[in-house]
Amino acid sequence: MPATILDGNKIAAEIRAEAADAVKAMSSAGLRPGLAVVLVGNNPASEIYVRGKVKSCEEVGIYSEKHTPSQNVTTDELLALVADLNRRNEIDGILVQLPLPPQVDSKKVLLAVDPAKDVDGFHPTNVGFLSTQRPGLIPCTPAGIMEMLQRSGIKIAGSEAVVIGRSDIVGKPMAMLLLNANATVTVCHSKTRDLAEVCRRADILVAAIGRAGMVTRGFVKPGAAVIDVGMNRVTDPAEFARLFAGNAKREETFRTKGSVLVGDVHPEVAEIAGAITPVPGGVGPLTIAMLMSNTVKAAKMRRGNFTAAAD
Ligand code: NAP
Repeated sequence: MPATILDGNKIAAEIRAEAADAVKAMSSAGLRPGLAVVLVGNNPASEIYVRGKVKSCEEVGIYSEKHTPSQNVTTDELLALVADLNRRNEIDGILVQLPLPPQVDSKKVLLAVDPAKDVDGFHPTNVGFLSTQRPGLIPCTPAGIMEMLQRSGIKIAGSEAVVIGRSDIVGKPMAMLLLNANATVTVCHSKTRDLAEVCRRADILVAAIGRAGMVTRGFVKPGAAVIDVGMNRVTDPAEFARLFAGNAKREETFRTKGSVLVGDVHPEVAEIAGAITPVPGGVGPLTIAMLMSNTVKAAKMRRGNFTAAAD
C-alpha cells in the first residue's frame, strides 16, 4: 500500500492561522508582535528566503522590517545593528539570514542576539533550554517536523527514531525534540557504520543530509514514517533518471526548467513507507510557519500580560 502523504502545506496553513489568531488578540491589547530580518548583501537564495518570510509576516499580521547592510559590512557594524534591535521593545524576533560574508564573524553576531528574541533558536542559551526541557525558542525546521508528526497522529513515545544528520540547525535539535517526546533516538552521520541497517530499525526516520535521493528502499522498515528534510537541486540527467525515470510530471519539469528539486529520500521509498513527506510541499512550508509561531511565542514570553508559552 502506498504511503500516506504528509501534506506540509496544509499543516503550515493551520499553524499560520493559529499564529494569526494570536497576533489579532495581542494586537488588540496593543502588543503586536514584530520581527526584524537582517539580510546582508545580494545572495539570490537568501533574498528569496527573506522575501518569503516577510510575506508570511504580512499574511499573519506580524509587524516586520528588513535591514539590508551591504556585502562589505563589518562585524562591528552588524553588532551595533543587533544591539539596537535587542533594545527596541516592539521587536520580538531577530533573524540574521545566513550565510554572512566571510569578513564577518558569524558566531559573534549570532551570539549577540538576545536569546529572548532568537526566533531561529540557534543561541546556546536556547540550545540549553531545549536540552534541559525548559521553555525557550526552538529551531524552526525540527519544531515544524514535531508539529507535523503530532498533528498527523504519528506515535512518538516509545518509538524507535533515527535521525540522519547532526547539524546544529536540523539534526541535533531534531534528535533532542524526539528524545524529549520519549522516542528512543539514534543519530547518524557520515561516519556511521552500516547506515542502512541502523535506519531500518526506525519507526520514524528523519533524513537531513543534503544528498539527493540517498535514502533508498533498503533504508526503510515497511510502514515507517519518513520525514525528508533535504532540498537538493538536480541538474544531471543521469541523476535525474536514477530518481524519476518514468515520472511524466517530473520529466516535463526537468525538460522545461533543466532541474528539479528533490529531497534526501528516493521516491521509491513511498512504495513501502507508512507515511512520507513530499519534496517540495513537505517540511519546507513548515519552516516559515514555525518562524511565525516562534515570533508570537517570543512576544508572549517577553512582553508580560500573556503567560509564557510553555509549549
Ligand atoms: P549539513 O549541515 O550539511 O549537515 C548534513 C549532515 O548530514 C551532517 O551531519 C553529515 O555528517 C550528514 N551526512 C552527509 N553525508 C552523509 C552520508 N553519506 N551518510 C550519512 N550522513 C551524512 O546540512 P543541514 O543544514 O542539516 O541540512 C540538511 C538538508 O536539509 C539540506 O539538503 C538542506 O538544504 C535541507 N534543509 C531544509 C530545510 C527545510 O526547511 N526544508 C531547512 C534546513 C535544511 P557529518 O556531520 O559527519 O559531516
